[in-house]
Amino acid sequence: MTTNIIAATTPDLKKDDLIVIAGAGGFIAGALTRYFHDQGFTRIRAIDKKPLPMWYQRVPGVESLCMDLSEKENAIKAVEGATEVYNLAADMGGMGFIERFRIECLRSILINTHLLEAAYRAGAQRYFFSSSACAYNTLLQQDPNVRPLKESDAYPAMAERGYGWEKLMSEMFCQEYWAERHMKTAIARFHNVYGPLGTWFGGREKAPAAICRKVIEAKDTGSHEIEIWGDGTQTRSFMYIDDCVFGIDQIMHCDDLIATPINLGSNELIAINDLVTIAEEIGGVKLQRHYKLDAPRGVAGRNSDNTFIQSVLNWEPSTPFRSGLAKTYAWIEEQYFARKAGEQVVDDTHI
Ligand code: NAD
Repeated sequence: MTTNIIAATTPDLKKDDLIVIAGAGGFIAGALTRYFHDQGFTRIRAIDKKPLPMWYQRVPGVESLCMDLSEKENAIKAVEGATEVYNLAADMGGMGFIERFRIECLRSILINTHLLEAAYRAGAQRYFFSSSACAYNTLLQQDPNVRPLKESDAYPAMAERGYGWEKLMSEMFCQEYWAERHMKTAIARFHNVYGPLGTWFGGREKAPAAICRKVIEAKDTGSHEIEIWGDGTQTRSFMYIDDCVFGIDQIMHCDDLIATPINLGSNELIAINDLVTIAEEIGGVKLQRHYKLDAPRGVAGRNSDNTFIQSVLNWEPSTPFRSGLAKTYAWIEEQYFARKAGEQVVDDTHI
């Protein structure tokens, strides 16, 4: 396979082409908006259904709109004039959310369905869809010492109920828009993304943020105890946010990857118990662990096989977990004490 990476900074995409980013009030799309802005793109339209004061990042000079993209008319307005569209809008959260709110997760299919059709009709040149490792067959993830998942492991399909099936179906939409209508689509299967400026409390947060918050809380209150969901042996890989946004850019602009789902994740496998140990070391404490065995814990193990991304892009996410977690911990600590002091922090709880 010939590699054909066009970085977003090449003349292929002009600095004043309109880039539309859906879900931009959230964690990853907020960071992506910042990334394109910092690369000198002057026309970025950022959209989220959350009211603007609740966005994690409001990037200066970026057109920021509050719209529900599961409504067809809004999707049409959102992509007017767009050269590229990035769909990272979804109703989602950590295991506690996706195991409990399957209808909300499934309904995200409306966002992609309307946005993709609208982007096609508007003549957008490229369309990006944020899929997930939850699209993989769950039967392959029953052992903490899991074999890393390669792209072909999504079929035969037995995805995570609700959230994973929505991702699989939306991937298929993207593939067929290329096959039937020649619209260039890109599909990345993210594996657990973490970092500053994302959800850290309220029920939608993922394990790294939740564990950091619990360690900070235990230290602050002096309780010196921590509750862990499951028995702590479950394993995952975690990708730092900077790797994620760089990977999105590379995947979107690689013609060898059109309509081809690809893993975007770290392959550093971490057990939840080790995550707790690392967070304790960062916080300088040792806590008494309590295991909540009936809490949502997801599959037993999941890791990313990066053979394909390495072969096509000659790159893979590589931020060491410990250093990424230290930055995340520092940001959550700051937020925690700001909230305690009565300052307003972004709260996803009631969305
Ligand atoms: P997030 O919850 O922080 O951001 C998603 C944003 O989409 C939210 O701000 C939400 O308000 C917005 N949204 C939801 N419904 C909408 C609608 N109808 N119209 C407009 N906006 C809407 O989540 P994130 O972690 O930034 O995830 C971004 C994308 O990446 C999602 O598609 C998610 O499924 C995918 N993903 C994330 C992870 C991860 O670990 N964070 C892993 C795999 C896949």
